[in-house]
Amino acid sequence: MAYDKLLLSIQNQEVEKIEMEVGSTTLKVIMKGDEKEADRTETANVPSLQAFMEWVNDKIDKKEVDVEIVENTPNAFMSFLGNIVAYVPTILLVVLILLVFKMQGLGGDSGKIYGGDDGKKSKVKFADVAGLEEEKSELVEIVDFLKKPDEYIKMGAKIPRGILLYGKPGTGKTLIAKAIAGEAGVPFISMSGSEFIEMFAGLGASRVRKLFERAKKMSPCIVFIDEIDAIGSRRTSNSGAESENNQTLNQLLVEMDGFETKETIIVLAATNRPEMLDKALLRPGRFDRQITIPAPDLNGRVEILKLHSKDKKLADNVDLKAIAGDTAGFTGAELSNVLNEAAILATKERHEAIENIDIENAVRKITVGLEKHNRVVSEKDKKLTAYHEAGHAVVSRFLSSQNDVKEISIIPRGVAGGYTMYKTTEDKYYVSRTELLEKMVALMGGRAAEKLVLNEISTGASNDLEVATGIARDMLTVYGMSDSLGPISLKVDKAYELEIFGEEVVNEVGNQIKSLIDNSYIAAQKILSEHREVLDKVAYALMEKEKITSEEFEKFFEE
Ligand code: ADP
Ligand code: ZN
Repeated sequence: MAYDKLLLSIQNQEVEKIEMEVGSTTLKVIMKGDEKEADRTETANVPSLQAFMEWVNDKIDKKEVDVEIVENTPNAFMSFLGNIVAYVPTILLVVLILLVFKMQGLGGDSGKIYGGDDGKKSKVKFADVAGLEEEKSELVEIVDFLKKPDEYIKMGAKIPRGILLYGKPGTGKTLIAKAIAGEAGVPFISMSGSEFIEMFAGLGASRVRKLFERAKKMSPCIVFIDEIDAIGSRRTSNSGAESENNQTLNQLLVEMDGFETKETIIVLAATNRPEMLDKALLRPGRFDRQITIPAPDLNGRVEILKLHSKDKKLADNVDLKAIAGDTAGFTGAELSNVLNEAAILATKERHEAIENIDIENAVRKITVGLEKHNRVVSEKDKKLTAYHEAGHAVVSRFLSSQNDVKEISIIPRGVAGGYTMYKTTEDKYYVSRTELLEKMVALMGGRAAEKLVLNEISTGASNDLEVATGIARDMLTVYGMSDSLGPISLKVDKAYELEIFGEEVVNEVGNQIKSLIDNSYIAAQKILSEHREVLDKVAYALMEKEKITSEEFEKFFEE
């Protein structure tokens, strides 16, 4: 039963009883009626149990509805599941096994523990973290604190409490936190912010309390909270799920403020969305140190590739520098993935060792998803895709700031019908306004070609539009590149945007996004209609060969 239907049914007095299991957002809903109970029973998923309970209790208190609420222990709930499903024993067993695994994984409700007192020392060392030299040198100090806290305390030094690591997923935040524990030889206790949420009232907070109780027993140690934004986002006065979050966050603040000097517990937390965090978390004595963990630059990528290829059999001609050059923007996790994928491809191809081509294919595979040669594509779709991709390629060819085309393909991969790949030359730290504007024009090239040639537009451009709109928005709100809005950062929480800047500014942003997009689309159409001949040639070559290299592409412009 859908959530809104559940709410409606309760409001309409159609529900007799609701049974729930602690910690689960799946409810058993028994409707009113004369049939057997089993025939009147449905299940419903609620987004937040806390919010739902507040809503329904409020209705009951106000006597607007009368519905019986039963809170089951997990076992009773499971046997209910058993009743409605014929294959009880199997399901029960699987659920039980999963449950047992899950509980073990949680280390008795309060965090996973690596190494230290449990005997299993965290083996990760700084040497296992490639690149990130500056970041590591900042953290060496922390290792020293953890190794000999007494010396520092005697000297009157305050040991840092919390360090926040900013960076997108896969950049090595967990790895570096483990390395600190490994270098210092202390236990590493970790928990993810998302594990705290979606629970019964108070449970999130009590988990935080237990986590720190455990940490205190193990001091000196490292507590690592991944995805801290899940609990640490701005506190609001709203009810429901939000107030549950508030309690959890408040507990975390209480714990961090409550350490005794003699307890050497360093809390590391990771997030990809620093702007979401409640400012209270960043106050002195809490997470007062912040370290950004960036995606690796060219050198960093070479280092990471080197490190992760140590245990792999590479052919002599493999050029890790060249691969690093082709993978600008990849995170450490993605690079590690590339090498692993390359090893799998090399094995399948029965190569003696991993060759350049295996790695290139792995890069491609990870960029756009698996090649699906066998997917049947209609001639009509093929033509559409060919013009769409040719549109991107031809438009960008006439934009001086855009990178050269490396490869165009209409072989479907994953969800994409085709793709145009561009050469990456160097890592860029700054991007100019012209580049951004031209990038948008290149993105519009696909849709513009469809419209121009086939007088029809398709859903194939949805991702292009999303990216282009994102660029336009960032130009105005993050980079302050609009003449009329001026050099201003409007990057605030959606909820506050209106409050701070007023309707006029918010409307103006909307209008300007639209006109940036419109203008890019017009510019792309203009380029394509001026170069219709070459567009046709590229599209036909694509239909014939399915894939064109940069050399083949360039030839069309020489003729
Ligand atoms: P995050 O916590 O930032 O999401 P992780 O630390 O979990 O990222 O990284 C996932 C994996 O990616 C690591 O286990 C490691 O194999 C690889 N990795 C990421 N960054 C690096 C790096 N700088 N050096 C070596 N390996 C890395
Ligand atoms: Zn496209």
